[in-house]
Amino acid sequence: MVNEKHARRRGSAAVAVLIAVALAAVGIYSYWDDWRATPHTTSDFLMNTFVSQTVYGKNAQRAADEVVAALSGFEDDFSMYRENSPIAQINRSAGVAPVAVPEQVYQLIATAYDYCAQTDGLFDVTTGPLSVLWNVTGDTPHVPGQQELSQALELVDYRDILLDPEARTVMLRRPGQMIDLGAIAKGYACRVAGEIYRRYQVGGAVLSVGGNIYTYGKKPGGGAYDIGLSTPEKDRQHTLGTLHADGMVVATSGGYERYFEEQGIRYHHIFDPRTGYPSQQDLLSVTVVAEDGALADFLSTYFFVAGSQAAIDCLDRSEFSLILVDSEKNVYISPALKDQFALTSSDYTLAAP
Ligand code: ADP
Ligand code: MG
Repeated sequence: MVNEKHARRRGSAAVAVLIAVALAAVGIYSYWDDWRATPHTTSDFLMNTFVSQTVYGKNAQRAADEVVAALSGFEDDFSMYRENSPIAQINRSAGVAPVAVPEQVYQLIATAYDYCAQTDGLFDVTTGPLSVLWNVTGDTPHVPGQQELSQALELVDYRDILLDPEARTVMLRRPGQMIDLGAIAKGYACRVAGEIYRRYQVGGAVLSVGGNIYTYGKKPGGGAYDIGLSTPEKDRQHTLGTLHADGMVVATSGGYERYFEEQGIRYHHIFDPRTGYPSQQDLLSVTVVAEDGALADFLSTYFFVAGSQAAIDCLDRSEFSLILVDSEKNVYISPALKDQFALTSSDYTLAAP
């Protein structure tokens, strides 16, 4: 009797072990199955910039394709240069009539309005007339005359964006005013991509939208993603340093990529709404690390205009971290990034704030 009982117990223990081994095998197998599939990589020119992504694990291809589709749709919705985009319609109807816009567009404009207000208008998404006048990123960049410059500058004022949340309409108060979401659209696109990766439950992904880099989930093998940051120079051939920033958007603004030269002077595409000129300050580049892409993109543009002192004062903030390069080639980093960022270029010096 006793032996029989023991034998039965042994038997069920053996079955339990077998089940456990089988479950573990299935678990390990499906884990491998996730990573086994080769990563899916895409590379496109979207939103007027280079967009590339590598997606790992389950559903990688489907998720990657959906991100590409979403970002192509973005251009139709958010570009002021697309004739039929809601933004172009708002700009055409400036001073005339409110325009009903899709939910996503309304939300981003409302968010942008709050960002402008938080910076007292140093960040201002109605700099559209300045972008058009200077045409820095277009075919005919030129330094404008004083009169046309003051005419354009006079139109820049985010407080003239009239939002009606009930009707979901947007109107600019005065004719000639223009919304230009160029400073936040790319970061916002990273947020939307993150929602797609999550929905498809991919293992991990790295997305680059014109210099805004987003890392999602885990890398195969579990290591951290290494992001190489470039030195703020024209040719961008050197690596400034490497950054580990899992699950974050890393947005960089600088005057070294989109600019033109006239009579030996360089004019870049980020404007100081107080002067109408490309911002004149002492930072070569501003990199912001934050969970939310729109926030990171907004802040990188804002600090680039605001200058080093304003940025250094914010190195300790909890909602975001900063890597700043000033014109003396000093690099300032937030204490929170101390163990995540390694400076690799010997031309630059890590500065104590
Ligand atoms: P990039 O687009 O090169 O990544 P940014 O995110 O800094 O760089 O955005 C720059 C764009 O922001 C400009 O091309 C213009 O469309 C817009 N812009 C320029 N000056 C301002 C400003 N002071 N506030 C908000 N947006 C601006
Ligand atoms: Mg930006």
